[in-house]
Amino acid sequence: MSKTLRRVGAVTVAAAVFAAANAVSTLAGESQILTRAAAAGQDVPNSVPQSTQEARPSFAAWIAALKAEARTKRIGEGTLAAALDGLRLNRRALALESRQPEFVTPVGAYVAALTGKQALATGRVKRRQHAALLGRIEAAYGVPARYLLAIWRLESNYGANFGAFPVVEALATLAYAGTPKRRPFWRQQLFGALQIVDRGHAPLGRMVGSWAGAMGHTQFIPTTYLAHAVDFDGDGRRDLWGSLPDSFASTANYLRNSGWQPGLPFGWEAKLPAGFDFSRAHIGESRTVAEWQALGVRRAEGGPLPNMDGRASLVVPAGWDGPVFLVTQNYRALLHYNNAAAYALTVGLLAERLEGRGRLVARWPSGDRLLSRAEKAELQRKLMALGLDPGPVDGKVGPETRKAIRAFQKRAGKPADGYANHNLLEAVRKAALR
Ligand code: CA
Repeated sequence: MSKTLRRVGAVTVAAAVFAAANAVSTLAGESQILTRAAAAGQDVPNSVPQSTQEARPSFAAWIAALKAEARTKRIGEGTLAAALDGLRLNRRALALESRQPEFVTPVGAYVAALTGKQALATGRVKRRQHAALLGRIEAAYGVPARYLLAIWRLESNYGANFGAFPVVEALATLAYAGTPKRRPFWRQQLFGALQIVDRGHAPLGRMVGSWAGAMGHTQFIPTTYLAHAVDFDGDGRRDLWGSLPDSFASTANYLRNSGWQPGLPFGWEAKLPAGFDFSRAHIGESRTVAEWQALGVRRAEGGPLPNMDGRASLVVPAGWDGPVFLVTQNYRALLHYNNAAAYALTVGLLAERLEGRGRLVARWPSGDRLLSRAEKAELQRKLMALGLDPGPVDGKVGPETRKAIRAFQKRAGKPADGYANHNLLEAVRKAALR
């Protein structure tokens, strides 16, 4: 799974570009597409053969074939006619899918933008308003109110922004004309959306969401809805648009199904000893707290690590001079919800801030600028020119490239955190000129 994690994580962090006003919906829309597929063990369809020469049927003919397949999935004729007859292409969904952000947002800027004063103030009001309900859900699922509130904030800005795309239209458009390698995924989501309507969970008119089909307070895509949404208020419907009991409980249920452990926070800010070996700091490597303690890892504010059963991983999201975190199984559960370190950390830090905790000791590096894909490829070429082995030049910073970066940093006498940003590229450029 860790390979998928890294690949998808890179895509989703890249997706988190701020157009400040729609930051939340941008995040919600893009990240869920890939991550929820990964979480459900479905293939994020990189492996689907692509044909650039394909002769594509008309949209109407494609819909007719889709209907035939839907009938084999026992989706009713009435649903198919209501949902698909006269359907038009949604150009905006296509444009949003193909958008290539030029710059990506460093984690620190992302955390700051989503956990500011307003987010805290509104979160505390909502917590008071819904205290009894959130308490019942915590008792039933073991997920504390503060995490449900934090996810609610990131997914739909506490219910203020569900997205306004007709989900069937957007998904049909993407399944028909979206990025070829993603089309099977969109098609699967489209069948999921049709099943939701056909089974009577939600009327067609309610199926409104992000361009990528993420719906309601929780921004569940259709397959996530079918697998994890619950009816908590007992009216017979799993209503993620109109029912907060259903929405909070569905989020809690999804986290529980993703391995959430009651009584654990997402993690703690940590402090590393001088000379720490950063090759140990990634989500794929986990150790007991006692083992981390023996390696010299401490709480950021000083003192020994908390007592905890189970294993933890070390996450260094912004390089050695930014905050570092020892994260628990619950951080991993948050990654199932949305497979980006920026997302899981932001949820975790916002949740703790809502309780008056979670203030960081270390500062996020100021002026941090991440690399575009072209710059990452340049970094790889220059590392190669310096006699290092960053793996194939693909514009993605994976384990091999990080290893080469660490080797470069060691040579230069710098902390070898393997973190690729603009400062690193500048240093590599200079070294390559010598
Ligand atoms: Ca309900």
